[in-house]
Amino acid sequence: MLRVSTLPTEPLAVEDVAPGVTRIALPVPSLEHGVNVHVVRGDGPTTLVDTGIPLPGTLDLLAGALAGIGVPLADVEQVLLTHHHFDHLGLASSIAARSAARIVGLPELDRVLSDPAGHFRVELDWGERHAARHGAPDRLLSGTRRALPLMATLPPGRVDVPVDDGDVVRAGDLDLVVHRRPGHSPTDTVFVAAGAGPAFVGDHLFVGAPITPVLGSMVADDGRPAAAYLEGLDRTAAEARLLLPGHGPAIADPVALLTERRAALDRKVDRAHAALGDDPVTAWELGGRVWPGRISMTHGLTRLAALLASLELLEARGRVARRVDPDGVVRWARDDG
Ligand SMILES: [Zn+2]
Repeated sequence: MLRVSTLPTEPLAVEDVAPGVTRIALPVPSLEHGVNVHVVRGDGPTTLVDTGIPLPGTLDLLAGALAGIGVPLADVEQVLLTHHHFDHLGLASSIAARSAARIVGLPELDRVLSDPAGHFRVELDWGERHAARHGAPDRLLSGTRRALPLMATLPPGRVDVPVDDGDVVRAGDLDLVVHRRPGHSPTDTVFVAAGAGPAFVGDHLFVGAPITPVLGSMVADDGRPAAAYLEGLDRTAAEARLLLPGHGPAIADPVALLTERRAALDRKVDRAHAALGDDPVTAWELGGRVWPGRISMTHGLTRLAALLASLELLEARGRVARRVDPDGVVRWARDDG
């Protein structure tokens, strides 16, 4: 739940993380490390990578933090967006209105920015179908429904400069190559500096985060987002030495972090397989076995997403079979033979 009154009124961190790059961590309800806005300065455009969550006071908090490092908000020339989640792009339109900054991101982000409340309603409709499809209770969506009024207050904006795979964006002294790396979300975009510089990776990989695709209306029901995620992570770890994520500190050894996260994922996959029997069950029923009595409604969607990622990977290995019943409900069973 969004408890605005309890949000800190200072940034959680302001630190230089690479030459010409400063991380400002803005508070987000129930996220220990908040969300990062990276400020990129140099000869080229003064740039923000991601923007923070659109709660009352956060824009002023960001403006104050920027002023503190000598960058008046009005001087920001460009905003790069790593994906469509609201803790990352939520303040983009407000920043553009106060600075004339151009907004740069994938074309899909324009649909979200130009009608935030409309997009959110689409996600809510999807969420209701998703819960029903996987045997989960409708009250899983309660938290999402409570956020709808906030979304209705957001000013609409536009992606001024649509970018795609292989494009290069100048930011400060960096030439950033755009890569689509779907996984955490279908719009995940990483910006990799040419010449062994840092990579801005949003929520693609960060300390403590599981390798779990956050599902939503942009992911096809029969999509394979977990497999795509793993493939993208391998590429990113191979091409960038310093990752600047959307949450928490910089990642100086991406390969080590990815190895650890993959091991954690393997354990989850094994647990999901061990909990399955020969009788088909829904993902939600399986969750009741994997986490008996421990799935709170607050974390229900996340738990469901984690299980579906495991089931997708098990299915690809031929160890699990899915079946879609006539009522549209998806059920899973072991298929080791
Ligand atoms: Zn995200």
